[in-house]
Amino acid sequence: MANPSLLILPGDGIGPEVMAEVRKVIDWFGEKRGLVFDVEEDLVGGAAYDVHGVPLADSTMEKAQSVDAVLLGAVGGPKYDDLPFEVKPERGLLRLRKEMDLFANLRPAVCFDALADFSSLKPEVISGLDIMIVRELTSGVYFGEPRGIFDDNEGGRVGINTQRYTTEEVRRVARVAFELARRRNNRVCSMEKANVMESGILWREEVQWVHDNEYPDVELSHMYADAGAMQLVRWPRQFDVIVTDNLFGDLLSDVAAMLTGSLGMLPSASLGAPMENGRPKALYEPVHGSAPDIAGQGKANPCACILSFAMALRYSFDEGAEADRLEKAVERVLAEGVRTPDLLQKEGATPATTAEMGDAIIRALDESLAAE
Ligand code: NAD
Repeated sequence: MANPSLLILPGDGIGPEVMAEVRKVIDWFGEKRGLVFDVEEDLVGGAAYDVHGVPLADSTMEKAQSVDAVLLGAVGGPKYDDLPFEVKPERGLLRLRKEMDLFANLRPAVCFDALADFSSLKPEVISGLDIMIVRELTSGVYFGEPRGIFDDNEGGRVGINTQRYTTEEVRRVARVAFELARRRNNRVCSMEKANVMESGILWREEVQWVHDNEYPDVELSHMYADAGAMQLVRWPRQFDVIVTDNLFGDLLSDVAAMLTGSLGMLPSASLGAPMENGRPKALYEPVHGSAPDIAGQGKANPCACILSFAMALRYSFDEGAEADRLEKAVERVLAEGVRTPDLLQKEGATPATTAEMGDAIIRALDESLAAE
């Protein structure tokens, strides 16, 4: 069988720095676990604009469509702020998401015990937290028509966006959530505003339909999204998988992410329909941006990007045990006190560089083998 394929798009700012550490991890799995990937690297964002005059070349898009998974660093930076809208770095990322039809965005919110103090919530509320937010990513109010700013014919203006969901759009993202729940703690909570929005009523009914007809073994509950926001900060551990629409998911996933403290720790995955080989179309990326304020200084935390690769192991390559190994290695390094500056609280503590953090994770991976 051919090796699984990966397209790596480091992008801009700290993207290439954190991706260099991911490359070490990928090489480790090839050498020590026989998990060899065919890796290609290409340009995205400002880096692509500098060479091709566009933030994603057609040839890169073609590669993204043909590989098993895409791993992206970050795009953007002040150098590109004044570019016309169509060629801004972010357009490269949006093109990838759109043309690969990545309709399900997965954002885990996991609290590593060593970082429990970083949350704004009390440690006893968040320690042991492990939830997954599944956000619908390609429909809803950000895309619905009609949209625009129009004259209201009475001397004023009216701004319009349309929340629109079809049966199939809801069902396919619901299936992603139920599949995930089966691999976790078997519980899904669906969030909408069925009390005030017809699209919310449809959402609730269709999620329930998928449950009753295809996943009756998974526990399903429904919650209004505003109540869900409250519950997320009151008692987040009550949740396992949350599935919600594009707008509510945008907000709720940011809230959930910050429960765990640091942007440098947050991975994400965006999944689409299964390809011929059964693997979903998939893009893995850290939640953070290109962090121009620290780029080029060896200060970037590579964990979010490394944990995004762990998600690729789990969701694209069905290597759950190896994903666990990698996540535990990260946890162990944090517990040992190896920290990039974003994770340091004590004055006078010596921060690790991006490369030192990556090396420590490789060491912890080696130790995981020695302990077997
Ligand atoms: P950002 O996420 O880049 O940075 C926010 C803050 O968090 C900064 O202080 C930064 O130093 C810090 N930070 C982020 N990642 C870190 C890491 N791995 N380790 C340590 N510290 C880290 O957000 P921003 O400053 O609003 O945006 C900067 C640029 O990134 C902009 O051009 C923006 O458009 C772009 N951006 C890209 C993406 C993406 O590629 N997916 C996402 C968000 C923002």
